[in-house]
Amino acid sequence: MLDSYTHTLRTAGLKVTKSRMAVLKLLTNAKTPLSVDTLSRRARGVDRVTVYRILESFVASRIARSVDLRRGHMLYELYDEHDHHHLVCTQCGTTEDFTGCDIGALVQRALQRSSFAAVTDHSLELFGTCKQCTALV
Ligand SMILES: [Zn+2]
Ligand SMILES: [Zn+2]
Ligand SMILES: [Zn+2]
Repeated sequence: MLDSYTHTLRTAGLKVTKSRMAVLKLLTNAKTPLSVDTLSRRARGVDRVTVYRILESFVASRIARSVDLRRGHMLYELYDEHDHHHLVCTQCGTTEDFTGCDIGALVQRALQRSSFAAVTDHSLELFGTCKQCTALV
């Protein structure tokens, strides 16, 4: 029996290696997007360059995607076939998912006034203050 991690890597045409397994497990169990540094620290023995290369191959094969939460570096999470985005607290960094961005109407409006024929992807992250940080002010 193949475990789901092995299955995911094989389906993507990637060789099953210890490092790839480690990074895939970390991404699968993470509740928020992770940085290369964090992944490298948690996947003991996998250096940053290797983690970065693994992430590149994961993004190319749609196992993972990169997210820009304005940290000055990209974060990575498992690719989600159901659209979701993030709410980010600019004070403490708390990150939560949200769904239902109603992109259809927005895309239609944007295309109408543009020279574009199609929109194939979108990114949307909301930045603000969490309730706990608001209470501290
Ligand atoms: Zn906060
Ligand atoms: Zn997410
Ligand atoms: Zn969306």
